[in-house]
Amino acid sequence: MLNNTLIQFFHWYLPNDGTLWNKVAEQADYLSHLGITMAWLPPAYKPCEGGAGVGYGVYDLYDLGEFDQKGSVATKYGNRDQYLKAIQALKDHHIKPMADIVLNHKCGGDETETIKVQDVDPNNRNNLLGEPYDREVMSRFTFPGRQGKYSDFIWDFTCFSGIDDFNDYSKFYYIHNEHGEGWEDVESKEFGNFDYLLGADVEFRNPHVKAELNKWGKWYLETAKFEGMRFDAVKHFSTTFLKEFIWIMKEQYPDMYIIAEYWTYNLEELLHYLESIEYSFKLFDAPLHNNFYTASMQGNEYDLRQIFDGSLLQAQPHFAITFVENHDTQPLQSLESPVDFWFKPLGYALILLREQGDPCVFYPTIFGAEYEDKGKDGADHHVILAPVHGVYEMLLVRKKYNHGMLKDYFDHPNTIGWVRVNEETHTAFAVVISNGYNSYKAMEVGSVFANHQFVDALKSREDEITIDENGWANFPVNDQSVAVWVLKEMRDELEN
Ligand code: CA
Repeated sequence: MLNNTLIQFFHWYLPNDGTLWNKVAEQADYLSHLGITMAWLPPAYKPCEGGAGVGYGVYDLYDLGEFDQKGSVATKYGNRDQYLKAIQALKDHHIKPMADIVLNHKCGGDETETIKVQDVDPNNRNNLLGEPYDREVMSRFTFPGRQGKYSDFIWDFTCFSGIDDFNDYSKFYYIHNEHGEGWEDVESKEFGNFDYLLGADVEFRNPHVKAELNKWGKWYLETAKFEGMRFDAVKHFSTTFLKEFIWIMKEQYPDMYIIAEYWTYNLEELLHYLESIEYSFKLFDAPLHNNFYTASMQGNEYDLRQIFDGSLLQAQPHFAITFVENHDTQPLQSLESPVDFWFKPLGYALILLREQGDPCVFYPTIFGAEYEDKGKDGADHHVILAPVHGVYEMLLVRKKYNHGMLKDYFDHPNTIGWVRVNEETHTAFAVVISNGYNSYKAMEVGSVFANHQFVDALKSREDEITIDENGWANFPVNDQSVAVWVLKEMRDELEN
């Protein structure tokens, strides 16, 4: 049984033109052709930036582009009707729609309250400074544009554990509410306690908040009928709540496919988190992404035999969502660690053409992207991301031929390879990767393929390789490149 193949169907800099949901519907057939089985869609509810927000600054979870709030009815991606149609189009093509669930925080409150807050040492949040004092903060969410439809719950300061300053978003305060002393206990101990990320930080110890979010989850699933969930920023809130929420969602839809973003390059921390959530969902393999980033920066100084070292894929393959890049790592973004362009096809071969992990392909990898923004240097930058060479063909090879025995040849620091052979279906392919010069790898596909011709599915090599009597061949690769050698008749079939 082949693992899922995910696409992240958005990036940080999509234009604010309200067309993404329509594009999902238009592209569903093509995604199915590529062998995509799961489409991760961006947060669908109204953010505080209205039609200009990517979606992670949640304002109203019930507003899927239905109410005139924050300056528009539609979100950046379209309106509620278009969203529901996009989901149906995916399902019509046997692609599971995945919702992005952002529960840690809210922003863009409607009214202020004057409440007891306390200053916080930002580098050690357990260190509350001075005495509590009265401060006016934007902590009431009344959703005047929705007028109580779906839920009449009003959020106030008792629903939050911390909040930013509406005059200076870089400042935040601890809120004295009745639901527990100090910050919520979260898994990440960065900055002493990493409960607070941004905006108004949701207080999950408040039973009314838990009840409201559980009610919302049921409503969202009944409304949108998604089949997968991607949880945002789980290192910043309680696993107790998350486990309960997941239990409720699975009660309604037992086959729910669940993944989460716990951003750290520290494998031990990821493994500890998996334990704490009782292995109830998969995690993005950020350490593997970091290996790709490092390898892409170091060129032939990097030892490719170590490419999986310290990754979740190696330690807990069943729980690894593998990826080369995402909306946070793309150029000019917050976690900016863009894998250098030459390495991207190598990275994709390493996640798409092997046995383990559920790979997630980033939207610009297939569709490209062009955008402008300020960089960390304060200057304006113009970024063009071309579709990544060979990923289209690799997806087709994965869809049609990625099964059977896998044998690794990780025996040289600059050239590694592997073969996948299925004698029953008489299919085989051989992958070779180089981060140095032109090279080749001697590998065995089996004597059943003796005298058969192999060609590069990516067409970066024009040669035809003949398998010898013993089932071996030298499979070549260009410098800093990847070649995917398939039986000649397989390449002809790839497009059919
Ligand atoms: Ca939090």
